[in-house]
Amino acid sequence: VKKSGGASACWFNAGMGRELAARNAVEAGLRTAIPAGRIVPYYEQQIDLATGRLMGFEVLARWDHPTEGILMPGLFIPIAEDAGLISDLSMSIMRQAFEHAAGWDAALSLSVNISPAQLKDPWLAEKILKLLIETSFPPQRLEIEITETSLFDNMALAQSIVASLKNQGVRVALDDFGTGYSSLAHLRALPFDRIKIDKSFVMAMNDDPESTAIVEAITRLGHSLSVPVTAEGVESAAIADRLRGLGCHRAQGWHYGQPVDVQQTRRLLADRSLL
Ligand code: C2E
Ligand code: CA
Ligand code: CA
Ligand code: CA
Repeated sequence: VKKSGGASACWFNAGMGRELAARNAVEAGLRTAIPAGRIVPYYEQQIDLATGRLMGFEVLARWDHPTEGILMPGLFIPIAEDAGLISDLSMSIMRQAFEHAAGWDAALSLSVNISPAQLKDPWLAEKILKLLIETSFPPQRLEIEITETSLFDNMALAQSIVASLKNQGVRVALDDFGTGYSSLAHLRALPFDRIKIDKSFVMAMNDDPESTAIVEAITRLGHSLSVPVTAEGVESAAIADRLRGLGCHRAQGWHYGQPVDVQQTRRLLADRSLL
């Protein structure tokens, strides 16, 4: 039942009752928060390493909770997936993000995370394309991020969803590459437009030669396949410099800025004349 959630109690112990109650409270809360638009997009800058230019943003879900403040996705995304609410949550986030970004500089893209459960929905591509039309957001400015986990249950369906989206100009990135059940075969099975190196490798580049070797290998693989590579979790100028030296294309992380809400994003864009 539990999918994530770090230090929390195990399923059979005395904490079970409390845990279940907390989980049910989150689920009940989501049922009103999603239609009320209180699951909101935060924006994390994505930077071209060669030029330093802002290329776009990754869209990250936050729960703007009336009493608890801003809640992180690790708390509610796994529960939304379990409870069958992830599609509604995702569509609400995308609608808000497309509406926001439609008014920004047309060169800026949005990268949106798609859950494995959503890639089992035969109508996913239609739903996204409909939303793009309704918000007048150009499909060419949208990239979806999917993980390899998404591809296990129904590769044929995932392939057809990806084909429909790509047909309309939406790009597709392989997220968290190098973690989980990675298989190089996935890079052949789907025509990815980008590979994203998981932050666990990038953040360890300072003190761990193995991580640096893995980042280097993934970047070279991207070059060989002509697929651009993004590194997430870039926290220092030193790591950004090394990634640039490796020929990594894009970077995102605290070094450039933490994810911020739409008001702060607008301010940042206004400062750069990108509004
Ligand atoms: P992800 O897709 O791997 O997103 C990257 C995560 O790393 C984000 O955490 C981001 O804030 C964090 N991060 C980026 N750069 C740095 C850095 O330099 N240092 C550190 N310490 N962290 C960094 P966040 O926002 O907590 O999101 C966690 C995960 O929740 C995401 O991982 C994604 O899998 C999921 N998620 C977020 N929003 C959505 C959504 O709208 N839909 C779905 N299905 N999943 C989402
Ligand atoms: Ca992502
Ligand atoms: Ca990641
Ligand atoms: Ca992820």
